[in-house]
Amino acid sequence: MLTVDKGVKYLQSAGAKITATRIAILKSLENRRDHPSAERIFMELKLSYPSLSIATVYSTASLLARGSLIRILSIDEKKVYYDPNMEPHGHFMCRQCKLVFDVPFHFDITAAADASEEIASVEDAEVFYYGLCVRCAPPR
Ligand SMILES: [Zn+2]
Ligand SMILES: [Zn+2]
Repeated sequence: MLTVDKGVKYLQSAGAKITATRIAILKSLENRRDHPSAERIFMELKLSYPSLSIATVYSTASLLARGSLIRILSIDEKKVYYDPNMEPHGHFMCRQCKLVFDVPFHFDITAAADASEEIASVEDAEVFYYGLCVRCAPPR
């Protein structure tokens, strides 16, 4: 799980400058369960950090993803969503409100290595589900 400490250490090792805005981005991603988009994080922080640009959110997040500290979900073609939970799990996106929820995996991702001679080992997997959440679905 991403912590501000781990994030700062990793960013330093990657040669990134540790700025107040980068620490604010780390804080807002730490323990986050709602898969915020880059835009969402930018909106939440820009009042307190007027110098923050959305480019900094994108670049900080891609560094963190390169260090396997967060996932960048490509569940939507228009936006990227961030997830500090690195345990293998799937994601459900409501096609109406665009909220993203965790879905537990019910299968062993390493089994893919047994199923194909091309695969030596499996480290991670992404599974995306699409549909309607309980709040958006018409009453039954
Ligand atoms: Zn919904
Ligand atoms: Zn997740």
